[in-house]
Amino acid sequence: MDIKSMFPEELETYLTEKGYPRFRADQVFSWLHNKRVPDYGQMTNLPAKLIAMLEEEQPLFPPVTADRQISRLDGTQKFLFALADGETVESVFMKYRFGNSICISSQAGCRMGCRFCASTLDGLKRNLAASEMLDQIYAIERTVQEKISHIVVMGTGEPLDNYDNLVRFLKLITHEKGMGLSRRSITVSTCGLVPAMKKLADEDLGITLALSLHAPTDGQRRKIMPIAQKYSISELMDACNYYFDRTGRRITFEYSLIKGVNDSAEDAEKLAALARSVGAHINLIPVNPVKEREYTQPEKDAVLSFKNKLEKHGINVSIRRVLGRDIDGACGQLRHRHLL
Ligand code: SAH
Repeated sequence: MDIKSMFPEELETYLTEKGYPRFRADQVFSWLHNKRVPDYGQMTNLPAKLIAMLEEEQPLFPPVTADRQISRLDGTQKFLFALADGETVESVFMKYRFGNSICISSQAGCRMGCRFCASTLDGLKRNLAASEMLDQIYAIERTVQEKISHIVVMGTGEPLDNYDNLVRFLKLITHEKGMGLSRRSITVSTCGLVPAMKKLADEDLGITLALSLHAPTDGQRRKIMPIAQKYSISELMDACNYYFDRTGRRITFEYSLIKGVNDSAEDAEKLAALARSVGAHINLIPVNPVKEREYTQPEKDAVLSFKNKLEKHGINVSIRRVLGRDIDGACGQLRHRHLL
């Protein structure tokens, strides 16, 4: 395993087996995850021999910024990172009133095939290691020089399709000896892999789970999300209830409004009933048009009236503020453009 994906205990085993004292593990972990330096040369309290050994056995490959776009409208920054093997991933830095947030990718590409999403157009290349998820955050933090308070795993990839590395990442990013982010300020978004949602509930991580629902009936959902062939909405609602029971954390429904597909008054009624049944909060986001797809956003009035209908049923709804309109905003668009 690569050194930046190791827990302190694993690092300790690795270093003591090489004959180094145990306290070196804490020092290395702290340089990697607390001070977050990108190379061994900066680890000033380590002996030269250890640094040479690490450089040889565990070379660090901080991601290279292959492209960076900065929105002139709202300061959103989109990064395209090249990984050690040349694969690329996208990450986004966003400024909100409540703090700075980073959206990271969990896989290079995606195999879920959601019809409205650019991330899946080129298929799945590979899973990301825990360190490659951490590195997106560490690299952006170094570049923008601002404090990061929130993380959303909503970039390219299906996080629960890369389950073990995701959980490892979540434990590392919240580790008290590392960056120490609050569990409550982390959201993982899934298209709804039911068994993995339940497994995640049992991990006791205290993070927020967002479910990309996007349709109120199985028939409609199957037209836009292939995963809906595998898991029904009723199974999804069971998994949401299970998550709430185990963690005490309310689920968020992500709902991309697509004109003529899922935005009718009847859709709002059905969606309200689903949200009520699991106590979910709803995030509405007008679908971000992707060039390769035919979907379009409903008019502004239609979005507001959809929101009002949900609120009439006492559902907690927010319309996701659209950020970075002037840059390759939609999920996976920047990466996709570079692959062409
Ligand atoms: N695979 C995970 C996380 C990545 S996608 C998931 O499905 O949740 C992050 C969110 O962006 C999901 O809610 C996804 O459905 C949504 N999304 C993807 N493409 C979009 C688009 N073109 N417009 C609006 N939302 C989109």
